[in-house]
Amino acid sequence: MCLFCKVVKKEIQAKILFEDDDLVAFSDIRPVAPTHALVIPKRHIESLNHASPDDAALLGRLLVAARRVAGEAGLDASGWRAVINNGPDAGQTVFHVHVHVLGGRSMAWPPG
Ligand code: AMP
Ligand code: ZN
Repeated sequence: MCLFCKVVKKEIQAKILFEDDDLVAFSDIRPVAPTHALVIPKRHIESLNHASPDDAALLGRLLVAARRVAGEAGLDASGWRAVINNGPDAGQTVFHVHVHVLGGRSMAWPPG
């Protein structure tokens, strides 16, 4: 079972920010910004490369959940970034789709 499936099943402890039937949001264990949360689907999808049109509603809900995390962290006015890394060049290290919610400092563009 992958690391984030273990978070879903509470076999690995995480600081859960919220959870519903299909999604979990939790704090990243190695934050790279003052706010750094991850939002994941409970269902295992390796990466966006493995998403199908049937996943459209679930992926949309992931973004709405990211927006909720950012709002609850007070980032609406200052701004924040949603990041989904896919595959080696993007630096994906956990192969279960996750949206990074990053904020609380200004960020460079383009990313490194
Ligand atoms: P990525 O590099 O996009 O695949 O992101 C994986 C993220 O998962 C990294 O930011 C890690 O710090 C984070 N991470 C790894 N293990 C855990 C864990 N047990 N709990 C919370 N976050 C984790
Ligand atoms: Zn998984």
